[in-house]
Amino acid sequence: MSYYHSLNPFRESFRKGLPVLTYHKLGPRPRGVRIKGLYVGTDLFAQQLSELHAAGFSTTTLAEVMSAGDAQKHIVLTFDDGYVSALQYGLRPLADNQYRAMQFLVAGCLGKTNLWDRDAGEIQEPLMDAGLVREWLAAGHDIGSHSLTHPHLTRIGRRQAREEIHASKRILEDLFGRAIDYFCYPYGDWNEEISELVKGAGYRAAFTTTAGINTPGQSPFALKRLTARYPSRSLKAVWSRMRTAAT
Ligand SMILES: [Zn+2]
Repeated sequence: MSYYHSLNPFRESFRKGLPVLTYHKLGPRPRGVRIKGLYVGTDLFAQQLSELHAAGFSTTTLAEVMSAGDAQKHIVLTFDDGYVSALQYGLRPLADNQYRAMQFLVAGCLGKTNLWDRDAGEIQEPLMDAGLVREWLAAGHDIGSHSLTHPHLTRIGRRQAREEIHASKRILEDLFGRAIDYFCYPYGDWNEEISELVKGAGYRAAFTTTAGINTPGQSPFALKRLTARYPSRSLKAVWSRMRTAAT
């Protein structure tokens, strides 16, 4: 199962390792959006967090998990791209559950929009500028690098990929005065060469878009995640059929 909607289907697998959830945009979805699954409504977000909280999950940083070696009932919450909506709609539900989240920022696009998918016709949404990132940090959350310009790193040539990986780390560290230890591959696009570059830049771990739970022994430079979203129409249909069959 590749998408996360609610805890039930994942109870067993979450026991086997460290789950990492991926979010992008929160709140109302504008008309004409191409990739609808990247929006999670505020109510659903709050519901997903409170369900995890009620089940005894606490958020953790990767550093804690790596040093403790025990991921029981821990979860990592990540946001990709640095959308303003994550700050606007996310802070309250995160605080209500004493949860901390990681925001992967596109270092060359702070205060701009999701320019990388503009040519594909995607609706443009505001990205946090430095001031808003400071608010995110002040609320107890963390940041990582999601490159400089959000390219497909395996397609742009080694020198440019290296620059995307190194310069984004440096820019974010200079701007926010803290270590940037984690990287997130744009589009989940990576290979061995790219992960070596990430390692060489001094990151401690990197996140992919490969669906799954991180079991012991998982390479820290190929961490799996589950994208959180509303149930797809086909999934809803399956559930309602199951309910009908059960009654
Ligand atoms: Zn992204």
